[in-house]
Amino acid sequence: MPVTGPARIGIFGGTFDPVHLGHLRAAESVRRRLGLDRMLLVVANDPWQKDARRTVSPAEDRYAMVVAAARDFPGLEPSRLEIDRGGPSYTIDTVTELRVSDPTAELVLVVGADIVSELPTWHDAEALRDAVVVAVVQRPGAEDGARPAGWRFVPVPVEPFDVSSTDLRRRVASREPLVGLVPAGVIRCIERSGLYVAEG
Ligand code: ATP
Ligand code: MG
Repeated sequence: MPVTGPARIGIFGGTFDPVHLGHLRAAESVRRRLGLDRMLLVVANDPWQKDARRTVSPAEDRYAMVVAAARDFPGLEPSRLEIDRGGPSYTIDTVTELRVSDPTAELVLVVGADIVSELPTWHDAEALRDAVVVAVVQRPGAEDGARPAGWRFVPVPVEPFDVSSTDLRRRVASREPLVGLVPAGVIRCIERSGLYVAEG
């Protein structure tokens, strides 16, 4: 007889400006390797820690790209939690909302190796630290060191995939192809919306 324990939910947050195969492959690998019941792609409404020198694309455009991308990855669920909440996006608020709908869920926060050392700077970091386990995914060029003390980490080997949203925005502006770096549906979104054409 199958035994059902608490749900295990992955939270993969990002600006996703635009979403790319680095995000998608990492999220899908973590979901499979850890046998998670759900893996949420949580689109930040206002990524308050991003460099203020560049204006982030509208949240609805970024969400539409994640929805298009998820058609190729049925195990990944686009989440509007942070967009619908509005204001600055604090992961602790997302965690609290998920807990309200499922108090016993085990929450796995997925972060790239480039930002793991910043976790203690996140809003209400101590509450977040106590509420989640963290899966760190490797990123080419990012050292996989400097894990902050006191956080619980779950090892999960994921094959690195070398792509960043910054490079994709540059590619669009300089009319270079995106094929092989983002799903075809995302390329169509970018072409239709005209995003990134005037950047750089
Ligand atoms: P930007 O260049 O604008 O910072 P990005 O590619 O880093 O964009 P984000 O939306 O900033 O994408 O990242 C969201 C999350 O995805 C972060 O935890 C980040 O570390 C992770 N991530 C981004 N790209 C990759 C990748 N190629 N492989 C693994 N994780 C990634
Ligand atoms: Mg980034």
